This record gives sequence, structure tokens and C-alpha cells, in this order.
Amino acid sequence: MTLPFEHSYAQQLQGLYVPWQGQEWPDPQLVALNTRLAQALGLDPDALDAALLSGHSLPDTARPLAMAYAGHQFGGFSPQLGDGRAILLGEIVAPDGARHDIHLKGSGRTPFARGGDGRAVLGPVLREYLVSEAMAALGVPTTRALAACTTGDKVLRQNGLEPGAVLARVASSHIRIGSFQFFAARGEQRRLQMLLDYTIARHDPDLTDTPDRALQLLARVGARQARTVAQWMGLGFVHGVMNTDNTAISGETIDYGPCAFMDRYDPATCFSSVDQMGRYAYGNQPAVLFWNLARLAEALLPLIDADEDRAISRATEVIEEGQRQYRTAWLDEFARKLGLDKPDAALIEGMHQLWVGQGVDFTLFFRALPDALHGNDAPLRALFDDDSGLGDWLAQYRHAAGAQTPDRVAQANPIYIPRNHLVEQALHDASFRNDFSTFHRILELVQEPFKPVSGAEEHARPAPREAPAIVTYCGT
Ligand code: AMP
Ligand code: MG
Repeated sequence: MTLPFEHSYAQQLQGLYVPWQGQEWPDPQLVALNTRLAQALGLDPDALDAALLSGHSLPDTARPLAMAYAGHQFGGFSPQLGDGRAILLGEIVAPDGARHDIHLKGSGRTPFARGGDGRAVLGPVLREYLVSEAMAALGVPTTRALAACTTGDKVLRQNGLEPGAVLARVASSHIRIGSFQFFAARGEQRRLQMLLDYTIARHDPDLTDTPDRALQLLARVGARQARTVAQWMGLGFVHGVMNTDNTAISGETIDYGPCAFMDRYDPATCFSSVDQMGRYAYGNQPAVLFWNLARLAEALLPLIDADEDRAISRATEVIEEGQRQYRTAWLDEFARKLGLDKPDAALIEGMHQLWVGQGVDFTLFFRALPDALHGNDAPLRALFDDDSGLGDWLAQYRHAAGAQTPDRVAQANPIYIPRNHLVEQALHDASFRNDFSTFHRILELVQEPFKPVSGAEEHARPAPREAPAIVTYCGT
């Protein structure tokens, strides 16, 4: 089977990429293949080999390119970023009609590599694989992992030489806020319009004939991202590098670099070694989202209204509406986790207050609720350093709960998330002992996160408190 790639991005977005090939590798080997995803895309898993999935040797149907984009990174603007170590092979239209990018990360240096080596190493590639597949199983909009390959090369990183690797990832597109910023920063209004039209045709075709399409697209991105970030908050997920070049127009979670799930609740939780100020800490994520959306609005201003003041006031209204949508999505998300029919803001906010400074494991808290509703609150109490505030809240919760609530809570809250200390162990085993068993074990559990598995108790617990804090790295 030759892969039936299509190339709408390459054909329609001149100026937003350079044609580019993957690097050849000494010994490309497939270490993980997502056969279920391949089948859902209408691809024959047997046609997906290491040479293709590592970028070593591509079929004639591919038309590989490195995308250009700009972006605000930690608040500072770079007019020229782009795929420094990645290529888009083309798009696959799945049997259900949905279009997906097939993209390789770690495929070698490109003209956008700046100082980087164009490489990825196995640990972070497997982290992205695990976490993105966990997110998909948890129902969060996300890019997917199609495959991971090792290259046979060694790559220098913080802790010495590590195995080189490539991740094949699937996205409903790789258009980001930074894609719009790229043309906006150059004052290329015609091309900005071209990108807007392409994006609408691809993601929001119902807006095609709408006169104020730029404003409507901004509203759609705001609504999609608001729901996605609300889901992150409901899972204790910390993305870690919410730059505008990592904020997708599709609303999918993208770029799993320094990301991790929070064990014990603390809004300041931040794992990334480079984020010293905690700009992208758990509790800051909603504010950062709207900061990023304001950057998208700025880029779109000339297409919103020729009168800049009017464009700003219309965009501001749309962003404020997005903030209200976020608040609703956040309340809905926690109401769902609490198994309630309708959000109870006082109960949900009270619960967050209750957690402060208590060292409560975020995931286990929700798993302990059904028992507490049935009268056994000892496991819930045991999660708190000081449980004296719990009684009042629990009384309030019991009052709001109905007969279905305990079952709903059990169905809405995962048993298994990728626990940081176990993920670290898995990445270490794979990278330095060539042992992939822990990786596959975690993958199996997080792909069905609500299903209890006997013998997997360790995967449903946080790290011991005295364990060293996990630190993650960008661009690795
Ligand atoms: P990120 O924050 O990981 O999405 O990366 C930000 C930018 O840095 C993107 O333009 C990446 O392509 C680029 N980049 C990250 N790591 C490397 C690397 N090892 N070599 C070349 N470019 C890189
Ligand atoms: Mg990125």
C-alpha cells in the first residue's frame, strides 16, 4: 500500500513552509506503533515501517516540508520560529472524511533550527507518546502518537548521550496562533487572508460565507481552547510550555514537551526547568490561554475591521465571551467529576479551597468520593494532612448529590494517569536499559484509564512524598 497523502497545506500556503527532507539514520527501528490509530486513519499498519516513520526514506507520495511560524515564547516575540526539527509528510483523509497531518518530530535540522541540533531523544518521545495517548483516552482534544522510532544514533543532552528518536504524530492540523503571527509580523496582509481562508475551509467550513470570518474564527478558537484548558484543569494536567506557537487553532493539545500531571494539588505546580517564574504553572493556564488569544486577535486585527479601534473593541468582546465560556466549561468539568447534574459554584470553589496546603492527591481525591458518599469517608480523610475542614464540605456535597452520583463519579474520574515517577522510570528503562516493558505497561493502563486492573495498584498512587521533585525539559 502506498500512503495516499494529500497536500493541501503545501499547495495552498506558499510562504508558510520550506520543502525539506528528513535525515538518513544509521539504524531506524520501530519501538512503538499505534495500530488502532493507523486503522482508524484507514492505513495498513504493515505499510508503516521504520524507514518511513523516522523520515529516513519517504515514499514518492510524501511531499515533506518544514512549517514556518512565529510565536511569543515566555512573553517575548520571535518573528521567525518554525519546525526546527520536524517535517510534515502530508495529510491523510480518514474513512470518516476527517483530514489529519502526519508529522515527524526529531527528523533532523531544518532551515528553522537556529542553534538546535534538529534531534529528539527517546525519553521525551516516549513521554509525548504516553501522555498524548492518555489524554486521548481521557477524552481531551489532542494530537495523537502514531509511532516512535529510534534512529541508531546517540544524541547529547543534559545527562550525557541518549538514544536518538523520532515521533510520528497525527494532528487535525498544525496551524497555530504563531502561524497567523508569522504573516502579521511581516505585514503580509494578503497572505494572512490566505491563511485565514485555508484555516476556515479546514476547521470551520460553516463560516466560509460569513462576512466577519476573522472575528468568528477568533471566537471559535476561544471556545475550543476554553474547553480544552478546562479539561486540563479537571485532570491536573500542566502543559508546561503554552507559547503561542504551541497553541493550536484546532483546539487540540499540542507539543508535549515539559508537560506532566500534578500529583498533590498546588496551583503553583510547574515542572519545567526553564519556567523559573512559573508562568505556565497549573493555576495560570486559563489566564495564559486568554493572553495567547489576545495575541491571535492582534494578528487578525486588519482582517477584523479596517478601522483599528473598532477592530480592537470587537476582538475584545469576543475574548471576554471566551473567558465566560471558560468559566462555564470549568464549572461543568468539575460538576461532571463530582457526578452532579448542574454546576454548584460554591461547592466547586469550596473544594478547591479545601485542597490548599493539604497535600491532597488530585486524582485520588475524586476516586475516594463514591465511598465517602456511601458513608466510608476514611480513605478520603486520609488524603488530607489536616481533615478538619472536610466535614462541612462533605455535608454540602452529600446534600447536592443524588442516587446516581457515586456511579457517575467512578465513571468520570480516571484511576490511571501517567504518574510522573513511573513515567520517569519507564523512560529511563527504555533509554538506558533498552527495556520497554514499563513503557508498555503504563501505555496499556492509561489507554483504558477507568478500568481497574488487579496488580496495578502502584500505578494508581502518587510518588512517596520524600521522592525528589520531577523536573522536565523543553525542546529535548
Ligand atoms: P517547543 O517549545 O518545544 O515547541 O520548540 C520551540 C521551537 O524550538 C520550535 O521552533 C522547535 O522546532 C525548536 N526546537 C526545539 N528543539 C529543537 C532542536 N533540538 N533542534 C532544532 N530546533 C528545535
Ligand atoms: Mg512547538
